[in-house]
Amino acid sequence: MLKSRVIWPISLVLMIAMLLIPGFPLWPVFLTLAVCIGFMAWGASQVSSNFFIDVICKAQTKEKIVALSFDDGPAENYTPQILEILQQHKVPAAFFCIGQRVEKTPELLVKIHEAGHLIGNHSYSHSTLFDLNTTRNMENDLDMADITIDEAIGLKPRLFRPPYGVTNPMLAKAIKRKKYIPVGWSIRSMDTVTKDADKLLAKVTKDVQPGDIFLFHDTCAVTVKILPALIKQLKEKGFAFKRIDELLNVPAYA
Ligand SMILES: [Zn+2]
Repeated sequence: MLKSRVIWPISLVLMIAMLLIPGFPLWPVFLTLAVCIGFMAWGASQVSSNFFIDVICKAQTKEKIVALSFDDGPAENYTPQILEILQQHKVPAAFFCIGQRVEKTPELLVKIHEAGHLIGNHSYSHSTLFDLNTTRNMENDLDMADITIDEAIGLKPRLFRPPYGVTNPMLAKAIKRKKYIPVGWSIRSMDTVTKDADKLLAKVTKDVQPGDIFLFHDTCAVTVKILPALIKQLKEKGFAFKRIDELLNVPAYA
């Protein structure tokens, strides 16, 4: 498997060796560097690449069980509607929450928790510049999210989902130090981009496999729109829903 701890040293040794050979052309050195940077960019952007750190993106099972997850809340506009639909259909889910939003609506987090859903850490700031932070700053950010969640429900999450699904060496170190279990997804809905409910529903139900983890956002109207039909269709296909921690058999809280 491609790992940064393998690719980077090999590239470095190759480049040094080429530079040490008298008269060796420079272009292979730059080509090696470009390939290495390409791998780094791919590894950072693909949550399932396991390039910098192993991120669990689905369960290894033949049983027809799947898990729903909602990122970026709690959001006053759509989280309550999603909770209502989940309750009506008796479906458990995971909510990877942003600390700043928890701070604004702690009562909503309590509602999610009391309804039996899992709360995960999705950073405090969810800043677009999050991945440029030092490991120490990332740890502080994740700590702040934990504290706001703990203040609301009295529990500290073990599951962490990287903002934007981006990983890098600094975040990998922060995750390891804080002993989080990094969780990604295997079915990305793109509900923040797609506005057409029919297309979105068709896309996410096209090729569902046992153990799949769905990524949605409880900040999107279109997600509320398709959720009842999604649950119905999957149940008709024989799938059952489990909470991510139960699907993956990992501890939910510290
Ligand atoms: Zn997010």
